[in-house]
Parts: sequence; C-alpha cells; structure tokens
Amino acid sequence: VKKEKEDAKIEGAVQIAIGVKKEVDFPTWYTNVLIKADMLEYYNVSGCYILRPWSYTIWESIQEWFNGKIKEMGVQNAYFPMFVSSKVLEREKDHVEGFSPEVAWVTRAGQSELEEPIAIRPTSETVMYPYYAKWIQSHRDLPLKLNQWNSVVRWEFKNPQPFLRTREFLWQEGHTAHLTKAEADKEVLEILDLYRRVYEELLAVPVIPGVKSEKEKFAGGLYTTTVEGFVPTTGRGIQGATSHCLGQNFSRPEMFNIFVEDPNDPSGQGKTYVWQNSWGLSTRTIGVMVMIHGDNQGLVLPPRVAAVQVVVVPCGITAKSTEAQRTAVNDACDKLAAELKAAGVRARADLREGYTPGFKFNDWEQKGVPLRLEIGPADLAKQQTLSARRDTGAKAPLPLADIARAVPALLDQIQADMFKRAQDVYFSRLREVTRWEDVVPTLDDKCVVVMPWCEDEACEDDIKERSAKASEPTDERAPSAGAKSLCIPFDQSRWSKIEPGKTKCPACGKDAKRWTLFGRSY
Ligand code: AMP
Ligand code: ZN
Repeated sequence: VKKEKEDAKIEGAVQIAIGVKKEVDFPTWYTNVLIKADMLEYYNVSGCYILRPWSYTIWESIQEWFNGKIKEMGVQNAYFPMFVSSKVLEREKDHVEGFSPEVAWVTRAGQSELEEPIAIRPTSETVMYPYYAKWIQSHRDLPLKLNQWNSVVRWEFKNPQPFLRTREFLWQEGHTAHLTKAEADKEVLEILDLYRRVYEELLAVPVIPGVKSEKEKFAGGLYTTTVEGFVPTTGRGIQGATSHCLGQNFSRPEMFNIFVEDPNDPSGQGKTYVWQNSWGLSTRTIGVMVMIHGDNQGLVLPPRVAAVQVVVVPCGITAKSTEAQRTAVNDACDKLAAELKAAGVRARADLREGYTPGFKFNDWEQKGVPLRLEIGPADLAKQQTLSARRDTGAKAPLPLADIARAVPALLDQIQADMFKRAQDVYFSRLREVTRWEDVVPTLDDKCVVVMPWCEDEACEDDIKERSAKASEPTDERAPSAGAKSLCIPFDQSRWSKIEPGKTKCPACGKDAKRWTLFGRSY
C-alpha cells in the first residue's frame, strides 16, 4: 500500500509536467523545459547558469564534430589567458567601442587595489594578436590557424536568457592569419558552412547563411557572415554563429603590426600586412534547438546529439505478475539495450524499481529522448518491442530479430523528419514584401520580412524605428521590437530578380541591391 501511495504521489507530480504551454507563455515554458529536463540550473549571479550533464553532452558532441572538421582544415587548438590589460584591449578603437559597455574588469586582488584594472576577455582578438605579430615573421609562417575552446564574459544588460544570451558563455573562437585576401575569403565561407552543418545536421535546426549589413557587422572587421536561425513561436530571428573577415584592420602598423615580407615583390622590400579571420559558435546553439523542437511534454532531442537516444522500459508487470515474469521482462530489456549499444546506439534500459511505466514515459519524454522501446510479457511472447517516437508520438511494433538494423534507421528518419519539419516552418515564414505598408503586419504575423533593400545604414535605422511603433506592447522580458536586418542571404535565387535601377527599396524608395531578411530578433 505504501508503495502504491508513493507511486500515486509521483504520478501526481507528473501531471503538472511543463506547467505552461509553449504557445501561451513562451519564456516560462522555455525555462521550465530546461529545468525539468535537467539541462540547466539557476545560479546566484544574474545572467549566469549551470550547464548540467544533459546539456553539456550536447556541447561535447558539437565540439567533437567541429574539432574533427577544423583539424582537417589545418586548424590547431591552443589556449590563451582570459585576462587582458586595458592598454592592449583599447588598441583597436572600433572593436573596443563595440564591446566596452559589456567588458567586466578585475580591479582588486584580496584587499589591495590593482595598479591597473585588468579586463576579462569579451573575445580574444586583442589577447592573441600581439603574439601573432611575434610568431609571424615570414610568409612561411602563414597561414596561422588557431582555435580555442573557452568561455568569454560579456556583461550584457539586455534581459539574459539561458543559452541564448548569458554573461559568461562557452564557445570556440578561431583566429587565423593569411597571406592573401582570397585565402581569407575562402576560409570564412568554409567555416560558415561548418556552422550551417552544426545547426542543420547535428541539431536539426534550419539556418540561412548570408552576410551582415554594415550596421550589424562585427565592429572593427571588414565583413561578417552569419547563419541566421528563426524561432517560430515568437517569430524572432536569432543569429546562429558568425564567421568574420577582419581584413587587415588588426594587422596594420598602428594596430598589431602583423606583416611578412611580400614574397611576390621582386625588390624584396615590400611588406604585406596579413589578412585575418575570426569565427565563433557558442552554447546559444543549444537554446535555439530547445526553442525550435521542444513541445508541451518537454524537450525533444535530435538523435545525433542526444546523450541517450533510446530508452527501453519494461511494461505490463502488475502486482499479479510472477517473479519469473518480472525477471524475464527485465532481462529482455537489458539484453535489448546491450544489443543496441553493440550496434552503436546510445541506449539505456530503465529498470528503476518503484516507478510505474507511466512515470518513466513522462520522465524520458521531458528529457527529450528520441525513441522509447517498451517490452511487456505479450511483446516478449511475440518477440517484438513497441516503439514510440518522441517527435511525433507515433507508435509501431518492431521485431526484435531485426532490431540492430531497424533502430539506427529509425533514428536517422527521426533526425531527418525533425529537420524537414523545422525547415518547412522557417520557409513558410519568410514573406516577400515589396510595399512598406506590409512590413509591420508581416512582422506582427510572426514572420520574417524578405525585401529588396538599398543596403543603406540610415535606411536600416529608419526601418528599426518605424517597425517598433505599431507593434503590440512588449513585456519586459521580450527583446526589442523594432526590426533589424538579419542577413543578406547568399542564395538570392529564392526570390525574383532585382532589376538594377528599377527595383526600389520599400522603406526609402532608393534603388534596391539585394533581397535582405528583416525581423524582430533576439
Ligand atoms: P560575436 O563574437 O559577437 O560574433 O559572437 C559569436 C557568436 O556567439 C554569435 O554569433 C552568437 O551566436 C554567440 N553569442 C554572442 N553573444 C552571446 C551571449 N551573450 N550568450 C551566448 N552566445 C552569444
Ligand atoms: Zn532603403
């Protein structure tokens, strides 16, 4: 009786599951999902969070995949200190202006004030490049390609959001130096494509690759490329990751003075200042994935990054079952999990005593495990297992004899279906707009505006201002409501041809250059 009571209590707790609906109170839904799935814990410094193993493993799979790819490109990992002196930090003016309000400073050690405050890196250009100047002496030292996996601190004052915008976050930052612009340009795009693949192939999150406007580019760089994501529930864009070409801005003599003798200059006198790139992908990736795929039962994990891909749950055992029946079912679950592991599947049998199958189903659903396999006495008699997909809820019996082939195939199918569904939604929310009066209603409709744009910075300021007014009042947790340019997509072929001198920018009436995404954003 006591055990039954406990079960009932646990089941009761499950009833309230995620608590609020995704489509009703999205911010609360989001944090509830993260907490209930054991992804995240709050911390007593605002804007900082604890990443628990269930989310950190996702970061590890991203690391493992991305490390493999960049090493193939000749990038090496290294580690630089987190502290930077104010003198060095302030060397690049545009760069510093971009970051200065968010830089955290160490001013004291124990009881004594430091003679000079020391900054904590918001990014490492200024930490690394003095040493690039030292190490790059000849064109034979090029290209120099280093990456580090670290955390950076940006004391953001906008509302923090777990994973999306935190004051300390984990990322990788790659910093490379090249002899020619062509080489640098090529790498910028190669890295951007890896970022696209992290989102699309690992996280099943569709993104649109493109270039940032002058206003939105990395301060101090030449140009910024980006993969832009989209959160359908809020209709907001989100910058997925960025690959910057810094040009020669950081290498010029007044800056870090990174040059080599020009190998193509016959006099041997010429200097070439190196062409540099920097590129970064952060734990924001995880938040975007949760926002896109999670539902009212909790987290939904794409199989490729799930710590547990398949959970096997014993079912159909009641108070009337014999001990032999119970043992047979538990053994079958163990055996099935072992067979799946041998086939390369991250599988686990949940043989916890004292929990009902219903409780376990709920528990693993909240945690987003992509596939559940149930085995009861009846299944065992038929030598089959009942599969239940987390993403669709679809159930189907699978013969045990074929399981080592069927389950990996089903996981691939789930991964592909999750991506396809998310991509269909994203594309359906890209709205071609050619008249100004359609801009705000399109945004209010939770869509991204795609319009032929003049690419003028003043026009972008104007669009932001004019699109902020008419919208619904935002609660304090919501990000700014004015639309900004998200990116100018590389693939312009989705939209009709822009005719030079004829196609006009709907915002200002000047000649349009390229189709550009405008949206409210995080
Ligand atoms: P950035 O150096 O500003 O280009 O940042 C590189 C990438 O890090 C961006 O594309 C974002 O995806 C991500 N990022 C920037 N700020 C934050 C933050 N506060 N928290 C989490 N991720 C961030
Ligand atoms: Zn314009």
